[in-house]
Amino acid sequence: MPIIILVADGARTDTLRAAIESGALPAMARLQAEGGLHEITSVFPSVTGPAYTPFLLGKHPGSVGMPGLRWYDRSRKDCAGPGHSRSYVGIDMRLVDRDLDRGSPTMFELVPNSLAAMSVVTRGLRPSRNLTRGPAFAARTAWTHFRGDVQGWLEIDRAVSRRLVSTMRKQKPYFVFAAFTGVDKVSHACGQASDDVTSALRIVDDTVANIRGDLEHRGLWDTTHLWVVSDHGHTAIRGHDDLAGVLTQLGLRPIWHPWGIFTRDPRTAVMVSGNAMAHLYLDVKAGKRRWWPSLASEWSGLAASLLARDSTDLMLLPHSDIRCEIRSRAAGSAMLEWAGDGYSYRPGSGDPLGIGEHAGLSEDESRALTMGSEYPDALVQIARLARSPRSGDIILSAAREWDLRARFEPIPHISSHGALHRDHMLAPLLVSRPLARAPLRTVDLMPSALDGLGIPHPPGLEGRSFL
Ligand SMILES: [Zn+2]
Repeated sequence: MPIIILVADGARTDTLRAAIESGALPAMARLQAEGGLHEITSVFPSVTGPAYTPFLLGKHPGSVGMPGLRWYDRSRKDCAGPGHSRSYVGIDMRLVDRDLDRGSPTMFELVPNSLAAMSVVTRGLRPSRNLTRGPAFAARTAWTHFRGDVQGWLEIDRAVSRRLVSTMRKQKPYFVFAAFTGVDKVSHACGQASDDVTSALRIVDDTVANIRGDLEHRGLWDTTHLWVVSDHGHTAIRGHDDLAGVLTQLGLRPIWHPWGIFTRDPRTAVMVSGNAMAHLYLDVKAGKRRWWPSLASEWSGLAASLLARDSTDLMLLPHSDIRCEIRSRAAGSAMLEWAGDGYSYRPGSGDPLGIGEHAGLSEDESRALTMGSEYPDALVQIARLARSPRSGDIILSAAREWDLRARFEPIPHISSHGALHRDHMLAPLLVSRPLARAPLRTVDLMPSALDGLGIPHPPGLEGRSFL
């Protein structure tokens, strides 16, 4: 009966597959043999926080008001504090539930008998059902974060695993969502090829083994769905571009995190996620969203100079809520449109996505078209983010081997994520039983979980059940 989602945060499919083949993950090897290992697409931005909304709200992050790990609030009403912006790294984490669209119910609201650990989204979760809630746990994670203590993060994963297994025995939840951050933390500090990544995956494997043992004992395993999934990939980088520093040098007085929220008389805002993507907000005093055509006369020079930087791969310029220009540093520009008749992509001075001209594509067709490319599912992902009211006026996706933040990371970032390219956007999905239909995207998990539990879907879910 229960639906169990375990997130191995930041694990790439090839990494998971190799660890399974090496014999290091026996419980997950059994899942692969009995159910299967699939590769699905995550969301843009491919970063923890936004990339959890598909699992728990069944929608892309731009659709529920969380366009990045950091974002600027043009209205200055939703974010009243200094800088009028959010950074969910740190104390603002407590505001995630408030920021998310009220009209999009969470799994926890739909399934009262839920249990969760290390979930960025907790709206609807009873406090007694949140295993990583409370001041002691918050202090432990903060201390681990600010010391940049990678082994400390693995210890947190081990504690989460123990607490999860023992609480599941007592509370017998119908829906479980638990995230393990070890793979991501180790990858940032030491690269995804590090042996410690295998150690982090072993903690997830032990969790699978213990949960399975208990459910077999209770006679429930055969009706359980246990899914191990990731929210984004990871790639090695060699350069950090200090985007906030670049705008400061240009005299554009950006708001940025952490200290730039106190910038006097700010003109722009730089909000980095992952750290391989960024939202740039121009003219922060305008108080409302202006689309690119009305910004171009004043800001074309800035756009051109940013596009010329080694760190830039793609630049997205939203023209309206149904149209976005895509510029590439190396491959010219194109226009993406989405409307009632589907997605259309028209190369202009070039073909940044490398897919040729297309019109009237469905979501499935546009995903299939892009899956073999450098930018899997890019048409849908760009559309969902570009139209989001809280997104930037310029959205940057970093070049491979680059990220967009050079200072103030407690853990050294020799590997990053957040961008649109395939090694950030693809994620593994390991399932305990064969599926009725191939899973495509992380947004498919929530409708599938609801089907598994026999609960009707709320309107507007952006994925499709694979059960
Ligand atoms: Zn990360």
